[in-house]
Amino acid sequence: ESVIVAIDGPAGTGKSSTSRAVAAELGLSYLDTGAQYRAITWWMINNGVDVADPAAIASAAEKPAIVSGTDPDGPTITVDGADAAGPIRTQEVSSKVSAVSAVPEVRTRITELQRAIAAAAPAGIVVEGRDIGTTVLPDADLKIFLTASAEARAARRTGELKGADLAATKEALIKRDAADSSRKTSPLAKADDAVEVDTTDLTLQQVIECVVTLVRE
Ligand code: C5P
Repeated sequence: ESVIVAIDGPAGTGKSSTSRAVAAELGLSYLDTGAQYRAITWWMINNGVDVADPAAIASAAEKPAIVSGTDPDGPTITVDGADAAGPIRTQEVSSKVSAVSAVPEVRTRITELQRAIAAAAPAGIVVEGRDIGTTVLPDADLKIFLTASAEARAARRTGELKGADLAATKEALIKRDAADSSRKTSPLAKADDAVEVDTTDLTLQQVIECVVTLVRE
């Protein structure tokens, strides 16, 4: 039977690395829902939609075609057929994604995509994001909520972002998490039945083993 794993938490806690590795090890599909919100944000920027104007975002929410490839060994994302994997990782997109993803019409649209992808996954899927356990897939077989200190999260992100300054990265992460946690529609939150894992002092390998063990239990 198919297994659904929801992995939520703030930025820089190791969600993507953990989710991909767990999916690969267990033969499951993998979905990065943050990439979908980044993709719709990238489209808004490219199409001249003011991200400070929720009504403008709402009326454009259905326009872009967003397609996610769910192989954990090579996840992909396209917007209107164009490869978006690189451009969605810029600081401009990172700084605007919280505003776009707070718009209810955007969340409704992306949530529908996510549920359809999960339902079509042959063996099951690991879905990572902010509201997967609470809103998108509340009946998931296992829910994980990853946390880490702000210092650890910023340090991990600085390793990923070329030339980024640690203090500025930390400030940007804290700001984005605050925005994601305070929005009205399905904010970043731990589900009541989620297992919380603090990754501050764990290696990636330890976090992966912990989650794999929980799935197999
Ligand atoms: O996971 P990542 O940091 O790439 O997510 C980018 C942004 O997408 C988050 O900061 C948040 O604003 C939004 N997001 C969301 N709900 C999700 C996943 C991501 O609102 N399930």
